Amino acid sequence: MRLRHKPWASDFLQEHNSIAISNPFDYKGKWKELFGNDHPIHIEVGTGKGQFLAGMAKANPEVNYIGIEMYESVIVSAVQKVIDEDIPNFKLINIDARELTNFFADGEIGRVYLNFSDPWPKTRHEKRRLTHKSFLDLYKQVLVDGGELHFKTDNQGLFEYSLKSFSWYGLSLNWLSLDLHKSDIEGNIMTEYEEKFSSQGYRIYRVEAKFPS
Ligand code: SAM
Repeated sequence: MRLRHKPWASDFLQEHNSIAISNPFDYKGKWKELFGNDHPIHIEVGTGKGQFLAGMAKANPEVNYIGIEMYESVIVSAVQKVIDEDIPNFKLINIDARELTNFFADGEIGRVYLNFSDPWPKTRHEKRRLTHKSFLDLYKQVLVDGGELHFKTDNQGLFEYSLKSFSWYGLSLNWLSLDLHKSDIEGNIMTEYEEKFSSQGYRIYRVEAKFPS
């Protein structure tokens, strides 16, 4: 992700803090109150500019979505989508996902999405990969029993690494495609990166994995 410095981003997020939640720690165990309903909460870690969750939220009004993105210069585009398209079931948090268990209670989340996560190909950066065991520990803690992790990427190396990581962790693989756009999947919502890479002819890998209960 190419980052452009946006000196106004911080003020913008503060101005729209009913969408980009500035005090997420206060909502630990209380996110349903914020949404004002009992619907399940699904999160995307590394949500970027928010195209995927905006599409998911409009397609599934009975699910609440929260996008987690560490860069404010990127997350502002997701906030702008929520404003422009008036999507009540889509909130954002500008934070590093390493903090996940500090703002979600155990079992508070129904599903985790990872889309086109940074591959971090060097071994010394392995711990930054969002499918590393240390992140799986966080997802397992905040997910409901038997919760699912859905992952898409164009990066074969990261996909292979992630399948091994899931398998070592004891996740079961429910659905897998080595060429998503040629699979029989219905209602696939494309992310920004998915549009870009698939239009360049790259194939997209996708897996649905389930944590052990
Ligand atoms: N999911 C989007 C898509 O598919 O178009 C964006 C993909 S982009 C390659 C990966 C995003 O993950 C970046 O915006 C990056 O800032 C974010 N990210 C990476 N590590 C993160 C972390 N630990 N916490 C929160 N966001 C993270």
